Amino acid sequence: MTTYFSTRSSNEPISFEAAVMKGLAPDGGLYIPTSIPKLPSDFLTKWADLSFAELAFEILSLYIPESEISRADLKELVTRSYSTFRSDEVTPVVELSKEKQLYLLELFHGPTYAFKDVALQFVGNLFEYFLTRKNVGKEGTDRDTLTVVGATSGDTGSAAIYGLRGKKDVSVFILYPTGRVSPIQEDQMTTVSDANVHTISVAGTFDDCQDIVKQVFGDAEFNAKHHVGAVNSINWARILAQITYYFHSFFQVQKKFGTSSAIKYSVPTGNFGDILAGFYARRMGLPIQELTIATNSNDILDRFLKTGSYSKSDGASAEVHATLSPAMDILVSSNFERFLWYVARENVASSDAEAGATLNKWMQSLKTDGVITVDAKVLGAAKSEFSSERVSDEQTLETIKDVFTNISKGYILDPHSSVGVTAALRKLEGTDSVYIALSTAHPAKFSDAVDQALKGLEGYNFERDVLPQEFKDFANKDKKKLFSKADVKEVESIIEEELAKEKKQ
Ligand SMILES: *Cc1c(COP(=O)(O)O)cnc(C)c1O
Repeated sequence: MTTYFSTRSSNEPISFEAAVMKGLAPDGGLYIPTSIPKLPSDFLTKWADLSFAELAFEILSLYIPESEISRADLKELVTRSYSTFRSDEVTPVVELSKEKQLYLLELFHGPTYAFKDVALQFVGNLFEYFLTRKNVGKEGTDRDTLTVVGATSGDTGSAAIYGLRGKKDVSVFILYPTGRVSPIQEDQMTTVSDANVHTISVAGTFDDCQDIVKQVFGDAEFNAKHHVGAVNSINWARILAQITYYFHSFFQVQKKFGTSSAIKYSVPTGNFGDILAGFYARRMGLPIQELTIATNSNDILDRFLKTGSYSKSDGASAEVHATLSPAMDILVSSNFERFLWYVARENVASSDAEAGATLNKWMQSLKTDGVITVDAKVLGAAKSEFSSERVSDEQTLETIKDVFTNISKGYILDPHSSVGVTAALRKLEGTDSVYIALSTAHPAKFSDAVDQALKGLEGYNFERDVLPQEFKDFANKDKKKLFSKADVKEVESIIEEELAKEKKQ
């Protein structure tokens, strides 16, 4: 039976439900399964024709004990989570170039047009499921509730809102910096009318928003009263939900396009959640030949794989660089800790507990010195799991243009997807491999970069060909938002007022 423990003290297993509802472990570590489940020996034939939801059910069944969620309930949860997607295939694969054997896995057909929907549509239903079960027979103030508080500079906020809108016993508060998210992203968040959804436009920066959220989490009294929760990318359920599309795309490429060569993946990477799901898929037994980390100029992972030094500073600065792919603008990749645990367990430690101690030491050193340095053996082990490519803004634009005019005439990539495609194109040079590049957002969400790459080219018309009708309709919809100074007390009092209003309804 699969249980979970923290990457920093790997000796006290807890249930799936506890790992999901807690999010972050009390020792600051992230939850991982105590062992990685293996696939049925005939999965390559048995699972090949399953739908996305059916595959998700099979995979999730291996990680969630039946004693925690019955198979009938799990099936219902999964089916409902993926019924909100605009594509029947949920995450379809398209062929970018037959000659180059380059395919694109479109992960942006969910409600907010970005890949985070794949996980958050499921996570929202999971939260509601666990709360509803706890609340059977309870009335009024006896009911367990969850107040999700998060900060966003763009995509995460809207995906969390769409995952949690209308969910019973859950309220969601998303803070964003006034005037510093794109108009489309703001419209996506503020046009959701459900009573349990609240957006707070904060007079400050994204860092101010994040600081306020951290302070809210650190406020013990507020927390005890309102049960503050998070849906950020370190939640195990998000990684788990993402494993499905590696299997699904693997089968699609073989069936739809008849490829028989070994399959490799290129993944535009920020916090390492997306590609980590690929690591788990491979460890389970899916024959992925190579996993390529594609970074923008926030390149801590690329530098690590080249030098063995996981360092906040790139030599010139220890600041986040603002790029054309903002959802990947990070200083450190929070989910990388999960991968480092496996590296420690298999190369340094002789028990799970020792691996936890090693991770604890490494993460302390990252906190105090801004760097983790590993030896050649550990670096070699990391390199056997991942390759990496760093992609500049110039190259990002170049690839958007090259795909539109040459590689796959008329196809428009968003800048994040372009980072992944650029990495795949480099790796494909002079080989006969097959690459699946992951496409993480719809181009309409990042119109500035797309326009910069394509403006004036024959056949390019953003309004006509890129912008979905849903986005055009934002202009006629009511917007719901609250305003606050960058001040934790003010934000907390807004939250309390809004929760009181919700209770009256
Ligand atoms: C979040 C996000 C990413 C990065 O995913 P990670 O799991 O953080 O590596 C890439 N592209 C888009 C559009 C995103 O929203």
